[in-house]
Amino acid sequence: MTAFRDRTTWLQGDRFGCLQPPPGKGRAWRLVLLGPPGVGKGTQAAILAREFGACPLSTGDVFRTAHERSLAPGSPLAEAEQRMNRGELVPDDVVLGLIQNRRTCLRCPGGFILHGFPRTVAQSAALDGLLAGDRLKLDAVLSYELPLVKLIARLSGRRLCPRCHAVYHALTHPPAREGVCDHCGSGLIQRADDAAEAVHTRLIVHAEATSQVADYYQRQGLLVAIDASDTPEAIFERTLRLLASRKLQARGIELEPTAPGATN
Ligand code: AMP
Repeated sequence: MTAFRDRTTWLQGDRFGCLQPPPGKGRAWRLVLLGPPGVGKGTQAAILAREFGACPLSTGDVFRTAHERSLAPGSPLAEAEQRMNRGELVPDDVVLGLIQNRRTCLRCPGGFILHGFPRTVAQSAALDGLLAGDRLKLDAVLSYELPLVKLIARLSGRRLCPRCHAVYHALTHPPAREGVCDHCGSGLIQRADDAAEAVHTRLIVHAEATSQVADYYQRQGLLVAIDASDTPEAIFERTLRLLASRKLQARGIELEPTAPGATN
């Protein structure tokens, strides 16, 4: 099992090096995780990253980290934050500028688990172009699926640590002390975009724009649909089984569904 990587370059841009270098050997996984808000992409990204030794890369985390620094009023990131709080998508040019400035992470020999990006077909095409420029390819696109009523329940109970970014759920994964992070002791918050109105907007946005991204990858033969109605561990096991049953094995990749620690 590989230790969690610090993601400094991803969170702050190519000018900043990561404190923890990627593993020097082993297979680099390059995966995209899709699915509606609340489906558990972030949780699965963290598990996959830990087991595969790749970095979990979320554009939402980049926006939230930028927000922790002071943003010049009217700057693209300040406008992005307002859209984000309303549950709307940030414009493609802002997102793609941010990705351009983090290309090192796409080339990283440790691989990546992207989630929250790409969210539009234009972003998917741009990602293809960036990877092709480095002669890299995605291994698979994992599309997590869950009924609407469960998504709403998950989102409305979600709580976040603003300091270490640990995620909790009021019902299914509460902290030991109510409202306090188990890891760093900070007070937990609800994301502005998890409030009821923003949740509604995010789910509509997903249905309209992001579901087309799944079709895009389906046409490329990369899409793997995964039922996300279970515990995170069970969903992870299901993910491994589905990855193992694909052509990935035929291409000589070692993937042992019952022994995740052995994947690298
Ligand atoms: P997430 O943490 O992935 O749910 O992202 C939170 C919010 O950040 C989204 O609701 C959008 O407002 C914005 N965002 C994150 N990633 C993207 C993206 N790839 N394209 C457009 N907006 C994004």
